[in-house]
Amino acid sequence: MIKQSGARLWNIAFIASLLLVILAACGTTTDTPAAEPNAQPAAAAIQPSPDLANRNIRVVATVGMITDIVQQVGGDRAEVEGLMGPGVDPHLYKASESDVSKLQQADIIFYNGLHLEAGLSGVLERMNDLGNTAVAVTDGIDRSVLLAPPDFEGAYDPHIWFDVTLWMQAVENVRDTLSALDPGSADLYQANAAAYLQELEALHTYVQEQAATVPEEQRVLITAHDAFNYFGRAYGFEVRGLQGISTETEASTADVQDLADFIAERQIQAIFIESSIPVRNVEAVQSAVQAQGHNVQIGGELFSDAMGEPGTIEGTYIGMVRHNIDTIVGAMTSTTAQQR
Ligand SMILES: [Zn+2]
Repeated sequence: MIKQSGARLWNIAFIASLLLVILAACGTTTDTPAAEPNAQPAAAAIQPSPDLANRNIRVVATVGMITDIVQQVGGDRAEVEGLMGPGVDPHLYKASESDVSKLQQADIIFYNGLHLEAGLSGVLERMNDLGNTAVAVTDGIDRSVLLAPPDFEGAYDPHIWFDVTLWMQAVENVRDTLSALDPGSADLYQANAAAYLQELEALHTYVQEQAATVPEEQRVLITAHDAFNYFGRAYGFEVRGLQGISTETEASTADVQDLADFIAERQIQAIFIESSIPVRNVEAVQSAVQAQGHNVQIGGELFSDAMGEPGTIEGTYIGMVRHNIDTIVGAMTSTTAQQR
């Protein structure tokens, strides 16, 4: 009897674990819940690859901002393929068949993690199972400096690139991972990263200086989705998004109305669209504000989760950050001038 029920229990456990495997393969799991301790530094588990003695390193990155890091740090040594181009929303992105074959051929895969690439989590887990190493550039960043919004299902806010000092840690992660995988070119990666980090330090100062030109009470940033919380914390803006941290959830009529009430009440002069999110959402807010007898301008387009076209200034991380702060400051100070 005891043996039989033991066997039955074992069967149930087996079926349950099989279900878990299937669920994981379907990509329904979420990564990095807030309760998790600091993730290991990205490079900790990386072994040198002997294949790289006679050829360049093949890298696949998800969002453009990470592709840019790899190009900066890897230089001529890295052949980088970015999966998500201009205007692509990483929260909603699903892997195509050609993406999967690119991922399979990569020596290393870099992604943001923190549930940004929600639709890719299953594919990336599968790659790791197949021995194609995928590294989250946010691993190893002290979890206590990350934002954990209560309405984001126990996960951290993934949009860390809007605090330039946090994004510098992502650069260090890429540098250390490439150096561990390809120690023969470690000097090159170190030198390239040092030069890039210096540029990013200057960028951080630039954003701080520009932000300071906006009167404090005018520094309320309203955008299509909640991508700018790290920006707000780092550079002193109050931030509100129409959609939440992820665009997986659509804004409701009540969300539009709430935000419109806030804008009318605070007499906010400009709101902003984002290049990776349909304009109609922000336009709906604008109409709802106008219905209350207050006029709010579209202050311009920001690059939130995707960079601009390749070959343009906004097609680089530094260019997109500069474009954003210049657009924000331009719209906020011109409306300040009008009011006076
Ligand atoms: Zn986002």
